[in-house]
Amino acid sequence: MYRVAGKYNILNCSLSELEDAVTELGEKKFRAAQIFGWLAKGVKDFDEMKNVPADLRSKLTGRFYIGLPEAVRSQKSKDGTVKCLFEFADGTQVESVFMKYEYGNSICISSQSGCRMGCTFCASTMDGLDRSLTGGEMLAQILAMRNLTGEDIGHVVVMGMGEPFDNYDELSRFIRLIHDKKGYDLGLRNITVSTCGLIPKIKEFAADFPQVNLAVSLHAPNQKLREQTMPVARKYDYDDLMKTCREYTEITGRRITFEYAVIDGVNDSTACAEELASKLRGWLSHVNLIPLNEVRGRSYRTANERSVAAFKKVLERNVVAVTVRRTLGSDIDAACGQLRRNR
Ligand code: SAH
Repeated sequence: MYRVAGKYNILNCSLSELEDAVTELGEKKFRAAQIFGWLAKGVKDFDEMKNVPADLRSKLTGRFYIGLPEAVRSQKSKDGTVKCLFEFADGTQVESVFMKYEYGNSICISSQSGCRMGCTFCASTMDGLDRSLTGGEMLAQILAMRNLTGEDIGHVVVMGMGEPFDNYDELSRFIRLIHDKKGYDLGLRNITVSTCGLIPKIKEFAADFPQVNLAVSLHAPNQKLREQTMPVARKYDYDDLMKTCREYTEITGRRITFEYAVIDGVNDSTACAEELASKLRGWLSHVNLIPLNEVRGRSYRTANERSVAAFKKVLERNVVAVTVRRTLGSDIDAACGQLRRNR
């Protein structure tokens, strides 16, 4: 856990780590749960922790800081989506997006500042990886967004900047932190993690967090096409990935989501749809078609509505569950694949 100005970000601490810290400071263990509860409420200062004695608050201030990021810029879309550029104490920037759905409010958080996966259609990877975020910094985006919007947030998708499985340990920390009953107390089923397909981590995730939803960015019906847009495909072969995903559904008993950004003239043909359908028929899966969101500086164009509809029809005919993702926030560059740190 790195430090800023010699202090630790207390938002990274689990309840048991806080108990150790409080005990070390010569205080009663039960104080840790009080502090942990306040942190989950999004307090900015130790002095807001009203039931924590003043001398403990000052001891905490000596050792920790509350690492809520600053909202450097926030934009509201006409559909109610809010995108915020957050900056942490060391200057690291990430974007997070707040969205309203019929089932409730949701936030899309970043797991890294930048990304090193190199998908050719995505904006997040254009400036490479700055650094990975800590679990507490993932949590902090939610707390800060709630403070900013004044809205409750009951669903979290880890689909912002970065590859969560390229930062697996801190992702795990985040999930444990936000799920803790004494803290934010978010149900595991209300969390979705999206990966570009790091096979060993999919296996770990199935064992560690079988109740958390998993989405896999597929974007192609075969190895040859996938390699063209996703460098990660050169490391992890298509058929091995599909086998791992199949095993995931068997181990967890849960459906897996495949994301498929539909790109004009690249992967939007009915032949592509037929090939994908033949691979997914009979699976516990769901395909989420995302009409490509165009990114400035990238040449790909979005598939037209007709080809997206035709693609969908082929999957349906083959009894593969499919939906077209509603695009939120594209007028403020907040849609899938449009998040980045340098603007
Ligand atoms: N690195 C993870 C998390 C990112 S999630 C992953 O790859 O899954 C963001 C989703 O949006 C991914 O499915 C990603 O492939 C997709 N995406 C990226 N650029 C896009 C674009 N320009 N239009 C639509 N979807 C895009």
